[in-house]
Amino acid sequence: MSINLLDFDAKGLAGFCAKIGEKPFRARQLLRWIHRAGEADFDAMSDLAKGLREKLSAAAVIEPPKVISDHTAPDGTRKWLLSVGAGNGIETVYIPETSRGTLCISSQVGCALACAFCSTGRQGFNRNLTVAEIIGQLWWANKVLTETFTSEAGRERPITNIVMMGMGEPLTNFENVVTSLDLMLDDNAYGLSRRRVTVSTSGIIPAMDRLRERCPVALAVSLHAPNDALRDQLVPINRKYPLRELLGACERYLQSAPRDFITFEYVMLDGVNDSVAQARELVQLVRNIPCKLNLIPFNPFPDSGFKRSSANAVSRFRDVLMEAGLVTTVRKTRGDDIAAACGQLAGKVLDKTRRAHRSIAETAG
Ligand code: SF4
Repeated sequence: MSINLLDFDAKGLAGFCAKIGEKPFRARQLLRWIHRAGEADFDAMSDLAKGLREKLSAAAVIEPPKVISDHTAPDGTRKWLLSVGAGNGIETVYIPETSRGTLCISSQVGCALACAFCSTGRQGFNRNLTVAEIIGQLWWANKVLTETFTSEAGRERPITNIVMMGMGEPLTNFENVVTSLDLMLDDNAYGLSRRRVTVSTSGIIPAMDRLRERCPVALAVSLHAPNDALRDQLVPINRKYPLRELLGACERYLQSAPRDFITFEYVMLDGVNDSVAQARELVQLVRNIPCKLNLIPFNPFPDSGFKRSSANAVSRFRDVLMEAGLVTTVRKTRGDDIAAACGQLAGKVLDKTRRAHRSIAETAG
């Protein structure tokens, strides 16, 4: 079976070149061709010797996940469903704005963490994505978007920001995610700054500490509740890593973070976590941590059992936070009509945990 070169960062490509008897500088050339130029055809890599091109064609491929579907919403949000084999599909979403273009990348097929309000979590879990499947989402999107992109005021290229906020909990697929982050940051690949690459976690504390040491990119933490009793229900991993410990990990992370704040995500669920009293409790919870709050109107999906908070409830909640001096934004809901909004990435998951069956049974009951 051919080796997929999308699986390698700079170090991995150097190892691969050594194995086929090539000098280390060939790895840098390859990295540039693959990721900067988006080239998948070895014959087109004009500064590689013919003998090397033939060797590469015989031993290796550059193969991202295959596109199953490609939809663009009226607001420009674009979503790809990509096949990762054996009937599984993952989703990647591009959100263009005037001054930036954000790509939302998946890290797993499904998710094992089963957050109560999450469409991905509802589907169960199949497996971690490989590096080629993670970075392949960026490789593919960058290639197709670059073909049509004309540089705009505010940005020179289509993708300026990455958020690891698609399907899955990135920090439970640590090594593959970090190798992918290395590629995103590598000047010979995508050359993004750490500030523009965000990992979003539900709070896997030991992995947050490892990320801080290994590759401290910007961090978003899915909070969703102002106390342990409610968070235990909404984000079950809280039972293992409760809020006090989670906030301690956030403080440690800030010592190495590329930004001087943590983003806290808070999905707004009608009658569940959106009262004024809960907003006050949230203020007390995070008051000692430099942070920004991002309120996310819930995106309903079939049988979710939750409703989106009213616009009034969201405003009231935001006002309490802002009056307490917390920088707070309300996420614009984009791509609704193609189910590309936060928490709606569903892909196609052949559940190995059988949770999907249990949820359907629970909903039915
Ligand atoms: S919100 Fe994130 S961590 Fe929770 S189930 Fe969904 S994908 Fe997994």
